[in-house]
Amino acid sequence: MLKKILEINNLMVNYGQVKAVKNISFEVNKGEIVSILGSNGAGKTSTLFGIMNVVKNKGRIKFKGINISNIPTYKRVKSGLILCPENRRVFYELSVEENLKMGAFIRGNIKKNLKKVYDLFPKLYDRKKQNAGSLSGGEQQMLAIGRSLMGDPELFMLDEPSLGLAPIITDEIFNILLKLKKEGISILLVEQNAIKSLEISDRAYILENGKIIQSENAKELLNNKKIKKAYIGM
Ligand code: ATP
Repeated sequence: MLKKILEINNLMVNYGQVKAVKNISFEVNKGEIVSILGSNGAGKTSTLFGIMNVVKNKGRIKFKGINISNIPTYKRVKSGLILCPENRRVFYELSVEENLKMGAFIRGNIKKNLKKVYDLFPKLYDRKKQNAGSLSGGEQQMLAIGRSLMGDPELFMLDEPSLGLAPIITDEIFNILLKLKKEGISILLVEQNAIKSLEISDRAYILENGKIIQSENAKELLNNKKIKKAYIGM
């Protein structure tokens, strides 16, 4: 059985003179939750954008053992690599259900996956005809996650899913991630909420100024005093 679902080698993302991601290498094994932690501007979003090929990037990206470095974004999605972007980016003028259906535009069975998403997020079912713009922040985040799940991710990447949410909603969302892991979905989580992410992660990488400065078992990082002080704010 193939162990690594994602292998990144020397990924680089530049915006003109700004070197956002500097030759980083890391991997996600099948069935793992892996976190990338780091402060504002460390390069977390750019790393995910590079993996999805929505920004110019260099390096080698292997997904399910296949080199996808030169294939366009929609083909990456089609193969099961799916990103839930920062700030939810739901379509405000569309209904909840229309938003969800958009998630299956490239990949995924609409009927089967709608049922799956509504089972996971009953609140979305209750509000399925409402415009997404009328939902609370937490509900919009659930909708963004639900929309991604409509595409049957094999590797699900999430950019700051806890941003701006109350702790109780964050807990709800992180519990959903654990449920998805149990279903066999591999997860790459980018977060500023280091403690919460480490609690649900198997491993984590710390990104600083576009470089990985540490990679470790999540529980060890949680107990590392130096790391706690510098990155977890304790
Ligand atoms: P945040 O948590 O604030 O989103 P991040 O860790 O995700 O931070 P990135 O958004 O990847 O970091 O940004 C990394 C660096 O690249 C920062 O210095 C940022 O200012 C710069 N950057 C990001 N996007 C662009 C862009 N479109 N053009 C120019 N510079 C950019």
